[in-house]
Amino acid sequence: MNLSPEVKAQLEEQKKNCVFCKIVSGETQGQIIYKDAVMTGMLDINPAVKGHALFMPLEHYPILPFLPPETFSHLFGRLPAIVATVKKAMVAPAATVFIANGGAAGQQTPHFLAHVFPREQGDGISLSGKPSPTTDLSAFSKSLNAVMTEHFNRNPGKGAVKSSSSLYEDDLVTCEALGQPWGKGHIVLTIPGKEFDQLDEDASRRLFTVASYASSILFESFQAHGTNLIVHTGPSEDNPSGFRLHLLPRWQDDGLNLTWNPLPTKPNLEEIKSRLHDEFFVLEHTPSRPKQETREDTSEKLQKILEKTQKSPDTEIERAINEARK
Ligand SMILES: [Zn+2]
Repeated sequence: MNLSPEVKAQLEEQKKNCVFCKIVSGETQGQIIYKDAVMTGMLDINPAVKGHALFMPLEHYPILPFLPPETFSHLFGRLPAIVATVKKAMVAPAATVFIANGGAAGQQTPHFLAHVFPREQGDGISLSGKPSPTTDLSAFSKSLNAVMTEHFNRNPGKGAVKSSSSLYEDDLVTCEALGQPWGKGHIVLTIPGKEFDQLDEDASRRLFTVASYASSILFESFQAHGTNLIVHTGPSEDNPSGFRLHLLPRWQDDGLNLTWNPLPTKPNLEEIKSRLHDEFFVLEHTPSRPKQETREDTSEKLQKILEKTQKSPDTEIERAINEARK
């Protein structure tokens, strides 16, 4: 991604003060449970549930659109196995992944990361919203279909866009609007018949490739201040069964309460860390499968399609950075 000198300078400044960069460099101690050549995982020190963990790239990237294709592919390829491992270690029937892009979406630190919560009924977390009016998503649908058609043209034989009555569908992923969305532009991505933690690396990469393009299109076409990506998998208070990836444009003061409270009594983090670390040992030493398709955000043709809905390539980044600093 080509960044303006102003954005580059802002990023350097962010990095110097970033708590997670300090943990990665060893300057500050963290409760590390996973580390490979590209990413790391650690316990949240103010957990909402036992086993609440954070997974992030070793390098400092503020929001999802910044991730280079290799990092994107590794992190999202790994995510289902990470979720499966957290569930197994904490003996949890369900899990939630929470990603915030921008302060308006609840991003607390400027280092891109994914919260992973092991979930069970009655655990006190509720990451869902109240029903709100539906939005016309026909222009969004058209843009996403155009972008993904171009994506498959660039990755021949890896998949194809299908014509369908939903907003978007390919040979794996379906994208739909909810009958009762939580807010303007709320959409849901699924791979029918699967739990998230059963997905193989390529299926997860595809899911997040669609989600990432969809997120950029929603962000720009609705002039949002941020976005949330929330994966619920397995039965919990905010998910009946199966898995759904909720994609939600966010605005400052949009009234959505997608947050959680820390446990009133802090659990024994050392004990949880060693339980998770033991379980992650195998995954840590399993090489990632070579990627089958890539999310290219630099191709000219893709840029042109995206530019129809975007003002300038730096807009999303600058706005999210500025919102995160508020
Ligand atoms: Zn950082």
